[in-house]
Amino acid sequence: MRVPFLNLIAQQAEIADEVLPTWQAQFISAAFVGGAEVAAFEREYAAYIGTRHCVGVANGTDAVELALRAVGVRPGDEVIIPVNTFIATAEAATRLGAIPVFVDVDDEFLLIDPAAVDAAITARTRAIVPVHLYGQTAPMDALIPMANRHGLVIVEDAAQSQGASSTLGRAGSLGRVAATSFYPGKNLGAAGDAGAVLTDDPAVAEFVRNFGAHGSSVKYVHDRAGVNSRLDAVQAAVLRAKLRRLDGWNAARRAAAGRYAEMLADVPEVRLPAIRPGNEDVWHLYVVQVDERDRVLAELGAAGIGAAIHYPTPLHLTAAYAGLGYRPGQFPVAEAAAGRILSLPMFPHLTQAEQSLVADSLTSSVTSRTRVGSGSGLVDRALS
Ligand SMILES: *Cc1c(COP(=O)(O)O)cnc(C)c1O
Repeated sequence: MRVPFLNLIAQQAEIADEVLPTWQAQFISAAFVGGAEVAAFEREYAAYIGTRHCVGVANGTDAVELALRAVGVRPGDEVIIPVNTFIATAEAATRLGAIPVFVDVDDEFLLIDPAAVDAAITARTRAIVPVHLYGQTAPMDALIPMANRHGLVIVEDAAQSQGASSTLGRAGSLGRVAATSFYPGKNLGAAGDAGAVLTDDPAVAEFVRNFGAHGSSVKYVHDRAGVNSRLDAVQAAVLRAKLRRLDGWNAARRAAAGRYAEMLADVPEVRLPAIRPGNEDVWHLYVVQVDERDRVLAELGAAGIGAAIHYPTPLHLTAAYAGLGYRPGQFPVAEAAAGRILSLPMFPHLTQAEQSLVADSLTSSVTSRTRVGSGSGLVDRALS
């Protein structure tokens, strides 16, 4: 038996009967971009997250960029971003000419560290982009008062947290504006690229809609030089069908996370992920920490298990951002975690049998070094 990192086939099968007739009708009527299906999804997703507005865009990276632009981030402004995130969060700032200012994450949850944010604020800081990473909400309870104190805007990156909540409410409804991605592998995924911007502020929503349609709200009347970033009707049809199942799928992820925790409870070599008090986690990723991670990852791969690393290189150490002048050692928590984190298979249709295989393989991999070494001095299996 092989266990894939992510299995989307079962998701597609669940929605096929619902989506395929809609796709056929869209194909025949040539209703591709915008229109009633997109408007319906935008209404339904705004209601689900608890914001007044949702504007569909072409992908999650665009969503972050358009959200930053909509709240007035300008070239040369500083935008505070955690180093442990997918690069898209920073690219969005870079693309509009803003300067990503990287900060470390906390050791317990690997989420943006409010103390680090506080220390990074300068006169040029304009926005903070907390990332609701791995499926749980960033510490908004600390960040919101801090942003208010300094007159900063919070732009949530909610790409990994569809349906997650904190004591303050749903991820995506907690900042001035939020961006999300419906890349197929996200908890709510399209059949291709898609994304959205969420906000209560009608001016922010209107800006995103206008900017993403070539700076135009009336055909061929261009208020500004914008971009082309729209949600396709075919994607809206898929997203509507999956949104109806999202709570059920997130519950299945939670059940799977509970099973992993049980199966690995007696394996001290595996550090299990922790949930911030008050958070409801939607387990976009199930990230454990182990010693000798690369050996463990290779052994899981050899056993037919699709594990992964999110993310292998903190953003300040990527070649993409070498020009900003950061050095190794500047963000010790993220740098240490990058060598230890390991994402196990996690998706709604993951079975108990699949998880048993993952847990057994992981357990034998992390305990093999101690076993080999016991009684005969330390023998490092990785070197033998
Ligand atoms: C996926 C993701 C994005 C970007 O989404 P795309 O749709 O791939 O452009 C942004 N931020 C985070 C944290 C993500 O995981």
